[in-house]
Amino acid sequence: MFREILSGFGVEFAGAVPFSECRVFAEDIITRRGIDVANVKTAVLFLVPYYVADAEEGNISVYARAHDYHLFFEKLYAEAAPMLEKAYGAPFYGFADKSAIAEVHAASLAGLGKTGDSGLIINEKYGSFVFIGEFLTTAAPSAFGIDENSPFEPSYCNHCGACKKACPMSEGLGCLSFVTQKKGELTAEERDFILRHGSAWGCDICAAACPYTKKAVAAGNVTPIEFFKTDRIVHLTAAQVEAMDKATFRERAFAWRGKKTILRNLEIFGE
Ligand code: SF4
Ligand code: SF4
Repeated sequence: MFREILSGFGVEFAGAVPFSECRVFAEDIITRRGIDVANVKTAVLFLVPYYVADAEEGNISVYARAHDYHLFFEKLYAEAAPMLEKAYGAPFYGFADKSAIAEVHAASLAGLGKTGDSGLIINEKYGSFVFIGEFLTTAAPSAFGIDENSPFEPSYCNHCGACKKACPMSEGLGCLSFVTQKKGELTAEERDFILRHGSAWGCDICAAACPYTKKAVAAGNVTPIEFFKTDRIVHLTAAQVEAMDKATFRERAFAWRGKKTILRNLEIFGE
């Protein structure tokens, strides 16, 4: 039933796992919502693919080219939760981004993909160009056709090492994605780091280097979800950012660190 409901939002991969099998590392994220953790019985994981055939181009990370994915998740949670609650007779709480559980591990347990050495989930159709979303619910695993006593094992990638080999962290400046999102002044080394790797926001290197993702891209498996295909900015310029009013700017995933941060990065490229 949950798969049918989520498919109405373009979700093709969804699965459920007993909450007891999930690795909970930030219980307060659940309790802050007024939820008693002891009552949570099942996690429903799902994947939201965002790849559109432009990964080879552009100067910002693929996930940040459409409108901010948080807007997609907010709408999905607002509309899907009541439908799920009606179907299962229990509350459903949506989480994305800030999750109390290890999402890649849980998504793998739910059968949505392999746990990659990159730290990303690897889905058979979309590779790693997916967001993970989840609902926690008090509905029992049996309501989702799950036998709590059966073993739950994550699957793993083939450890080929391509992500680690391609990763610029070996240059000693940390994760490129993190550096592009740092506030304040950057050192000359950090500016050069950003310039050399050609991204003014985020980093797709480990995802794109993975043979599973390469296969998905070569197969042309682009997202079926309109939200991620619409109003995309592939190559961002300072003039575009400066022309955005507050509301327009806030609709973008690169907005959360403020205009100054993204403009500082674009200036490195002379954009
Ligand atoms: S996002 Fe980029 S810098 Fe960060 S781990 Fe992946 S490849 Fe390395
Ligand atoms: S590049 Fe290789 S090691 Fe890295 S996640 Fe993909 S399959 Fe695993």
